[in-house]
Amino acid sequence: MTSLLSDLNPQQLEAITLPHQSVLVLAGAGSGKTRVLTTRIAYLIQSGQVSPSGILAVTFTNKAAKEMLTRITAMLPINPRGMWIGTFHGLCHRMLRSHYQDAGLPQAFQILDSADQLALIKRILKDLSADDKKFPPRQVQWFINNAKESGLRAAYVTIDDVFSRHMLEFYQAYELQCHKVSAVDFAELLLRSYELLSRNEILCQHYRERFNHILVDEFQDTNPLQYKWLKLLSGTGTKEAAAVFAVGDDDQSIYAFRGAYSGNMKDFERDFGITKIIKLEQNYRSHGNILDAANALIENNSERLGKNLWTAEGRGEPLRVYNAPNDFDEAAFIVEEVKTLHAEGIALSEIALLYRSNAQSRVFEHSLFNAAIPYRVYGGMRFFDRQEIKHALAYLRLIANLDDDGALLRVINFPTRGIGARSVEQLQEDAKVQGGSLWAAALLKCDGEVSLPQESHKSLKGVAKFVFLIMTMRQSCGELALPQIVECMLIHSELLTHYAKERESSERLENLNELINAATSFVHEAGNDSLAEFLAHASLEAGEHQVGSDRDALQLMTVHAAKGLEFHTVFLSGLEEGLFPHENSLNESNGIAEERRLMYVAMTRARRRLYLSFTQSRMLHGQTRYNIASRFLDEIPQTCLKWMQAAPRTSFRYSNSTNPISTSASSIQLRSSNSSRGGWKIGQSVMHAKFGTGVIINCEGCGSDARVQVNFDQAGMKWLSLEYAKLSTV
Ligand code: ATP
Ligand code: MG
Repeated sequence: MTSLLSDLNPQQLEAITLPHQSVLVLAGAGSGKTRVLTTRIAYLIQSGQVSPSGILAVTFTNKAAKEMLTRITAMLPINPRGMWIGTFHGLCHRMLRSHYQDAGLPQAFQILDSADQLALIKRILKDLSADDKKFPPRQVQWFINNAKESGLRAAYVTIDDVFSRHMLEFYQAYELQCHKVSAVDFAELLLRSYELLSRNEILCQHYRERFNHILVDEFQDTNPLQYKWLKLLSGTGTKEAAAVFAVGDDDQSIYAFRGAYSGNMKDFERDFGITKIIKLEQNYRSHGNILDAANALIENNSERLGKNLWTAEGRGEPLRVYNAPNDFDEAAFIVEEVKTLHAEGIALSEIALLYRSNAQSRVFEHSLFNAAIPYRVYGGMRFFDRQEIKHALAYLRLIANLDDDGALLRVINFPTRGIGARSVEQLQEDAKVQGGSLWAAALLKCDGEVSLPQESHKSLKGVAKFVFLIMTMRQSCGELALPQIVECMLIHSELLTHYAKERESSERLENLNELINAATSFVHEAGNDSLAEFLAHASLEAGEHQVGSDRDALQLMTVHAAKGLEFHTVFLSGLEEGLFPHENSLNESNGIAEERRLMYVAMTRARRRLYLSFTQSRMLHGQTRYNIASRFLDEIPQTCLKWMQAAPRTSFRYSNSTNPISTSASSIQLRSSNSSRGGWKIGQSVMHAKFGTGVIINCEGCGSDARVQVNFDQAGMKWLSLEYAKLSTV
């Protein structure tokens, strides 16, 4: 017992050893909340106050749940089976499996993940002959999940216009279909478990008696239905009520956009009769400069419950700030620093590279791949594995090779053009009989040379449409350069318009536009304009350097996915207005405050070293954007910062000779207009023998590697190698 309780500060000790009562531990990042929660579980069991089966502990990710279990079993040699430790979804699933009959489910009910759910919704919309332009399936999915997360069955949804009447109709059809095929989606797990407990008093009583102690990590991010579920299960107000031990940090509430409601903390105090709020104020994670910087930043938020964090550690190193000319240079800088740290003995798994938006990972993945640094991407798919990118690549594959059956199957009905599954099967049979490719079979079908009486007219029209589309696309791409081929494909395939109609589509659109950038850099890197080689490069990057979880690897993730974790070193990239804070947050009330909390979460992941980087220009949405440094950089005291001057690096793609280095806050300004290469300057008017006149808008590299991006009056945007382009001044 003493070993369990050693090395704890008085507040931590108090929280861990509190008698049976509900309590709120409100504390900042790295103050030991998760440690206190896991130690309390071990303590309660070891002191005989509860058996493992009397424990229910809940957190937000599978990774965090696993970590919790590991920490407990390291403290206590017990069989962890009896304890219920997991995510809300995981625990509700466990409950429904045990009581499937009472929950009105067959024993073999299946779980629909988000992609399965979407596919089902699409089928339903089709069956109802709903116009998917008017009612994008993702929007229908969002409507259904949102209703469920608010605890609303279709029968209780109120409608106030024609649009929502249709949505409701889809919701009803979806409920019916799920019932028919015994399928349960994620939101349903929670709702059904809640309904089961509220309907079945005996069962509810059983669980209330069983779970004496309920412990919740990251409480600030619970949504209203999760909160109601906790309230019901704990039986607050009754005499057999469980003790609910909730730990949270209002400064780390980062899921408001997904319906989480940090006001739950206030409700919790009221509903659970909290008489004791324990505050932990000592941070054990980070060195002084990191903590001071994070504290200073978060003070700019006004609606805070307020707390002070201090550390007994020294000040440690200052935060290292790097102002990169562009995103490639930022990646190259990080790669070099990672190499140095690794050579100094820091494990790669102790280094995290964080970004605000998933689309940023591509440039990093590319540079890491080239530098042969193993890495893992968490909480998001690798760039070339993402659904929208796979669809786009499938179109490109068809442009390169009409007989690529896999690619054809992926996009023949995506975006939907009325080709049903049966028609696709028929096509596959035809191809088998004819001994040719699916494309050849499709051509024959359109020519009317194969009569298919059972084929629906609509499907046939769809196939003809597809054949025509691919032919037009190939023709239009003709002699275009690789990036323009990608662009042309995105437009013709209607992938852009398709995704643009979806709710929450901005990330997919960003990724699609990022594919144009990928092609541009490929041409530059490989000195090769071949579509086939680009496609080979994409599949190579998608597969080859995927590292196993047991291998030491650099950790790449979004800031959201980093919640609760800690690393020796953290690289926080893309600190630019519009990116972090994200542009979407600018129009939302409290949007900036939520972004600032996200920034606070990101900074406080670092134990010893924190890098902050931003770029003067970045390729985003298919265009070069000139950036202003994030306002969050201005909110950090200069005394905590050290401005980095990049060491000369042979592996750099771009020279950083114009990188502004300064120790004053006012230096966080754009200087890209001063960038020069061999006398060429941004903003300068130039003349090219073939493309005519234009203005230089970007410069990169030096020596024989130097190139400029010119916006030509007639020919548009072009990247040109200075060595070969023979530009003259105007
Ligand atoms: P977050 O808000 O980021 O989730 P947290 O409050 O949950 O942070 P923990 O992850 O529990 O913090 O702890 C942060 C680090 O401090 C861990 O490495 C933990 O082992 C360490 N720590 C916590 N309490 C102590 C202590 N009393 N003595 C030494 N180290 C401690
Ligand atoms: Mg924690």
